[in-house]
Amino acid sequence: AQVCPTGAISSPPMPIRETLSKLKEEGKVTIAQVAPAIRSVLTEEQICYGLHDLGFDMVFDTNMAADICIMEEAAELVTRITAPSQESPLPMFTSCCPAWINMVEKHYPHLIPHLSTCKSPQAMLGALVKHHWASQKGVSADDIFMVSVMPCIAKKDEVQRVQLEHAVDAVITTKELMDQGSFDLEAAKNNTQKLHFDQPFAEHSGGAVIFGASGGVLEAAARTAYKMVTGNEPPHASLQPARQQGDVKELVLPVKEGVEIKVAIVNGMDHLSEVLPHMDKYHMIEVMNCEGGCVGGAGNPRALDLKEIQKRQQELYKRDEKATYFASHETPAVERLYKGELKDEHLRHHLFHTHYNHRFEKDQWHLPATKLIHVKPA
Ligand code: SF4
Repeated sequence: AQVCPTGAISSPPMPIRETLSKLKEEGKVTIAQVAPAIRSVLTEEQICYGLHDLGFDMVFDTNMAADICIMEEAAELVTRITAPSQESPLPMFTSCCPAWINMVEKHYPHLIPHLSTCKSPQAMLGALVKHHWASQKGVSADDIFMVSVMPCIAKKDEVQRVQLEHAVDAVITTKELMDQGSFDLEAAKNNTQKLHFDQPFAEHSGGAVIFGASGGVLEAAARTAYKMVTGNEPPHASLQPARQQGDVKELVLPVKEGVEIKVAIVNGMDHLSEVLPHMDKYHMIEVMNCEGGCVGGAGNPRALDLKEIQKRQQELYKRDEKATYFASHETPAVERLYKGELKDEHLRHHLFHTHYNHRFEKDQWHLPATKLIHVKPA
């Protein structure tokens, strides 16, 4: 079984190939989505081939939902800065790490209004596929079985939150994929389509890629929030502190004469106490449970030391440099959605935002073996 580093949950391995074959017999369309941090340990070609070979009908990129997440989070930040209220106060905390969300709901309920209402990228893509793309394709949402590939065991718990309405049916980790998938890229030579993500959820910016590194969510949000406020691209140098090593990082983004956006990055939840007493001095705070961010998640192969984590972060930064689009708002597929099908703010709110509840300690995480286990593990 895989065990969350905080010991909160454990999860037995899932027999993926057998499960998918059974789901297909039931007439389901099986779709995988892949988190940004997975490509710090596997290439995109390996991931896509491995998932297609296991039997998924389609493989979508969670990166595109990370771009959507940034669009929504940056807009929310700008709203909170211009019109803070009791329901939407400053600072705004990021909400894409479920371990952090669970911590707030159980131990810091007074911080709930400070949490961004944005769902995590995996939940956003699940909602977009099941409640929007499916109807466009004439497929019933009930006939879609969506599986997220995540570097994270807490994501297995996240998809069971009632607020997320089972948009994602199950989560497998990078390690589960590596243990059970085939990565014989020679065999894919005659079918190169298997080496790529499937449209329409394949395009993304460099901002989405760096979501997997500590500081990445905040850096990506700053790129788009700056553009929203000033109409210009942010000066790259002012974003660099987000990439430095450290337990708590600060970043100050000058917006115009006398106005700046001040943010903090908590690199591992052990360091929360260094920020919470002074949280009022920030506009936004990124909190990630795992040191180094999701590249160091318990669903990824275990990193033996900090150097390995840093190597994984560098892999994502290299991908960011090579990306065709710098910021989430520049991704053409995202732009098209926002100008077209997702123009309606109410629809976006329904698909991409959520709420949180005070949970009591007795509400332990009850993670069933997995909804997917209809067949006996091999
Ligand atoms: Fe999961 Fe760790 Fe990433 Fe949080 S930081 S989402 S616990 S992998």
